[in-house]
Amino acid sequence: MIPDHIQLITIDLDDTLWPCKPVIQAAEQALMEWLNSNAPKISQAHSMESLREHRKALMQQQPEMAHDLTRVREESLRQLGQQCGYPDELMRQASHYFRQWRNRVSPFDDVILALNLLAERYTLVSVTNGNAQVECTPLAGLFHGNLTAAEVGAAKPDPALFHAAAEQTGIALGNALHIGDDPLRDIQAARDAGMYTLWVNRYQSDWPQNIEPADMNLLSLDELITPEISS
Ligand SMILES: [Mg+2]
Repeated sequence: MIPDHIQLITIDLDDTLWPCKPVIQAAEQALMEWLNSNAPKISQAHSMESLREHRKALMQQQPEMAHDLTRVREESLRQLGQQCGYPDELMRQASHYFRQWRNRVSPFDDVILALNLLAERYTLVSVTNGNAQVECTPLAGLFHGNLTAAEVGAAKPDPALFHAAAEQTGIALGNALHIGDDPLRDIQAARDAGMYTLWVNRYQSDWPQNIEPADMNLLSLDELITPEISS
């Protein structure tokens, strides 16, 4: 099913290997409770929605940091802390606490077996715009490399993550497959970078009419676990 010339597989994380929304919601709820105990002036003045609005405004004011969601969160909390008279160090702890929760992801059922089998034959690199730390999740040890938009300086659809994966592994993008859930940021971006593409459509969405379809479409990674791959 995967063409013979493929040697490198880059894989998106959020909504490709685990559902993103529940983990963010849980992490934001946990942060709110942390603020309630440790920086109550912030939790009294803000809702999760208004904290989100503050981060959005910050990204508009400072677009150069928008690809680094951890930095955006840290800076937003720092500014809000300052307004309420809390030290930067306390707000760094708040950001760290959020990040611990951000890593508490629950991979889709097919993921761990599929990655184990793919890793036997291909070089696997995770490429994410998000701020989960793979080595702190249940997927620790399953990839040969893990790259984030924050590290490479640009978020998908910018091809920087794909080029960084090629550089790190010494495998050209012409011999690479990208697996992701987002038609624009994953599939179109990877195709434009010269890669073979696989759309994982976890939520049975319609493909957008204005984007050329991926080379392969799957509802889960189960269909990749064929006798051919596992042999
Ligand atoms: Mg995604």
